Amino acid sequence: TELSHIRNFSIVAHIDHGKSTLADRLIQSTGTVSDRDMKEQLLDAMDIERERGITIKANTVRIDYVANDGQAYVLNLIDTPGHVDFAYEVSRSMRAVEGSLLVVDASQGVEAQTLANVYTALDAGHEIVPVLNKIDLPAAEPEQVKAQIEDVIGLDASDAVLISAKSGLGIPDVLEAIVTRLPAPKGERNAPLKAMLVDSWYDSYLGVVVLFRVMDGVIRKGDNIKMMQTGAKYGIDKLAVLKPAMVDVPELGPGDIGVFTASIKQVRDTKVGDTITHEKKGCETPLPGFKPSVPVVFCGLFPVDSAEFDDLRSAVEKLALNDASFSYEMESSAALGFGFRCGFLGLLHLEVIRDRLEREYDIDLITTAPSVVYHVHMRDGSVTELHNPADMPDLTYVDHIEEPRIKATVLVPDDYLGDVLKLCQDRRGIQMELTYAGSRAMVVYDLPLNEVVFDFYDRLKSISKGYASFDYEITGYREDNLVKMQVLVNDEPVDALSMMVHRDRAEMRGRAMCEKLKELIPRHMFKIPIQAAIGGKVIARETLAALRKDVTAKCYGGDVTRKKKLLEKQKAGKKKMRQFGKVEIPQQAFISALKMD
Ligand code: GDP
Ligand code: MG
Repeated sequence: TELSHIRNFSIVAHIDHGKSTLADRLIQSTGTVSDRDMKEQLLDAMDIERERGITIKANTVRIDYVANDGQAYVLNLIDTPGHVDFAYEVSRSMRAVEGSLLVVDASQGVEAQTLANVYTALDAGHEIVPVLNKIDLPAAEPEQVKAQIEDVIGLDASDAVLISAKSGLGIPDVLEAIVTRLPAPKGERNAPLKAMLVDSWYDSYLGVVVLFRVMDGVIRKGDNIKMMQTGAKYGIDKLAVLKPAMVDVPELGPGDIGVFTASIKQVRDTKVGDTITHEKKGCETPLPGFKPSVPVVFCGLFPVDSAEFDDLRSAVEKLALNDASFSYEMESSAALGFGFRCGFLGLLHLEVIRDRLEREYDIDLITTAPSVVYHVHMRDGSVTELHNPADMPDLTYVDHIEEPRIKATVLVPDDYLGDVLKLCQDRRGIQMELTYAGSRAMVVYDLPLNEVVFDFYDRLKSISKGYASFDYEITGYREDNLVKMQVLVNDEPVDALSMMVHRDRAEMRGRAMCEKLKELIPRHMFKIPIQAAIGGKVIARETLAALRKDVTAKCYGGDVTRKKKLLEKQKAGKKKMRQFGKVEIPQQAFISALKMD
């Protein structure tokens, strides 16, 4: 296809504003997929994505469209991942296209993720077409939302396209806007091959599939190529475009977006953002800005039933096959037995993987406290990266500890602003900005990532009745007064509950933890001390009283069925318990104890 007849674009939106529904409509109304094959929300293939309404892996589709000018165009849509954890992948895929549709729910207005993604699109040099969705809703206020887009983002929204992705209203206008308002790609057909690796995934029939965008030159089936950052060399086996099913093509040139397979063994051999060129007569300089994505949040995953360790191992290996940003290594814990220390791009990523292990692979898991990566500066001048509080070196050898900080942006209606400020303040935040857009406030805070990893997002949602939206980026490392807090149950340290905390907050967190555990651990036949300690020093303590009577005693031996039920319930509960010395702790206690109220 000629460059002037190609349009490459992505859709930028906050979760639930209608990105997937719009993508489906564009595919359907152009006959790219027959109605018979059209599943609802075609682009959100995975169940979890569908359930949570988020897209995790970028999906792509090539749409053939005859415009009002009578000419045939190729429209390539790259569906970018919709969450902050995948910020780097978003920024990569944006560099593969020239424009974006900015979809804003006309009944909700601009949200934090809209902002983050639209700035990424602007950074990538995109032309942006604002699209106001859900105008079928009685609560839609398109004029106000237009004004908000202009105020908050600084984009001209006077030509915004008004649509209802659900009913199909305005879809033809979106297609015309893509052709007339977004720029055609540029590129040199006769130059050496230069293509960007946008994404890759594992297909059980084809092996690793690589999604790429050709910047210059031509790529053909059978070509010998190399990846400039990793240095790996491959021969192209299959070359195709996604409609969204694969359709083989002999070659792809500048502006084109397609996929290839090349006997690549694992997804981790392909780095998003890498430059693909020919092995011989390749281009000289790679595309700028390459950086591999690194895990920032770590936690331990242990099977509740230690007999399930092998199942967990094979599940973890399978998941890692298709997710290069998920890392794992074996870990053994005195209390929890064998498991894995796993690294994630962020909290959502952690939740998604944990959910998949539990649901798709049916493994009951104990998740230890999520921890960020600390930089521990030793007295001898060396620096170690601490992924697990249990590995914290002896303090006498430690000079100081640095922790990652984030820039967090929260958008929230006025009414809840006070509570949001308090939450950020309580989490050791430093206010950077506070501005208004209509009846919404935008606050920017500098926060330690470790105060955000466990339940910040849940708290934010609950204090704002769901109205606050949140986004963050990691800004760097900073020294602070951090210590490792241990929890001892019946005088035995439970390493799964160890955590790094700020010294000033240690007592408070220690007390809260002991109180929670006291409620969560069932009574035993003996008294159980529950303690929080720093080094050898106990900073908080609770005592769980001993159990006096048999649980079934109150049934007086009369009602046999009731007695049986109680015993059954106890047995079921036991399955989810772990033994710590002489004490049994329910699995749920690990999660609950770490949440703060
Ligand atoms: P995404 O998270 O941005 O991909 O959003 P989805 O496309 O999954 O849409 C989120 C929800 O909004 C779904 O329940 C859709 O059915 C609904 N929705 C999408 N577009 C419209 C629309 O134009 N009108 C109405 N009323 N609902 C819509
Ligand atoms: Mg979606």
